[in-house]
Amino acid sequence: MTSSTSSLDEDPNACVAAGDSRLRRGGSLKFFYGPMDCGKSTLALQMDYNHARQGRRGLVLTTIDRAGPGRLSTRIGLGKEAVDVSADLDIRGLVRQRWQQGIRVDYLICDEASFYTVAQIEQLADLVDTSDVDVYAFGLATDFRTSLFPAAQRLFELADEVTRVQVEVLCWCGRPGLLNARVVNGGIAREGDQVVIGDTSSSDSADSADSSGQDLTEQDVRYQVLCRRHHRVGDLGPTARQEGQLRLV
Ligand SMILES: [Zn+2]
Repeated sequence: MTSSTSSLDEDPNACVAAGDSRLRRGGSLKFFYGPMDCGKSTLALQMDYNHARQGRRGLVLTTIDRAGPGRLSTRIGLGKEAVDVSADLDIRGLVRQRWQQGIRVDYLICDEASFYTVAQIEQLADLVDTSDVDVYAFGLATDFRTSLFPAAQRLFELADEVTRVQVEVLCWCGRPGLLNARVVNGGIAREGDQVVIGDTSSSDSADSADSSGQDLTEQDVRYQVLCRRHHRVGDLGPTARQEGQLRLV
C-alpha cells in the first residue's frame, strides 16, 4: 500500500487541475458514519450541493447503491448520477483522467465507502495529500456482527475528521439505533459473509446474491437497526416479522 503513490508522483500531469486548492490549507479527508437510515446518503448529496453552489466541481461516487450502478439514491427520494466504484477501480486514475480531459475535480463525495477496498481508501488519502482534493466519505462503520468493515477501519485510522451522523434512528424500543442487524429467515444472524445485499423480494434475485456470487434467493435476508442492548441479545422486537422495509444501507 505504501508503494501505491509512486505512479502518481511520477506523473507530471497529476496535479495540473487541482482546482482552487492553492487558496486553502490543502485538502482534507472526512468520514461520516452511522447505521442505515441515518441519512448518510442525503447528507452526501447535500454536501455535493453546497460545494457546487460555491462554484466548486466534484465527483460523486458510490457502490452497491439501492438504485443500481451509476446512481446515488436516498430512501427519501433524492438521487444523482454517480460513478460506480467497482473493486478494481483506481480512484486516483479516475480523477487524473478527468483532469486530463480538462475537467476540474475539487472534491469527491464517496457514498457507501465502507464497501470500497482498503486500497481505494489509500487512494483517497493520496488524492488529499498529493493533490489537495477534498474527500467526503460516507458509510457504515460496522457490519452485522458489529465488527468494523476494513475500509471503515482504514478511514477511522486515516481521516482528518470522523463524524457520527446525527440524524437519529431508533431501535424498536425507542433507544438510539447504533448497529445494523442482519435478519435471516426471521432471526438475527451472527455468522456469514460480511457483505450480503438484503432484499426480501424473491422476484428480484439479482439483488439477493452475496459478494462471492453465491445464490441466497432461498433465504429471506433483511437488515434492521437495533440499539446495542437488543443487538447483543438478538431481540428484533414484537413486530419484527411484519417489517420488510429495511434493507441494506
Ligand atoms: Zn432496543
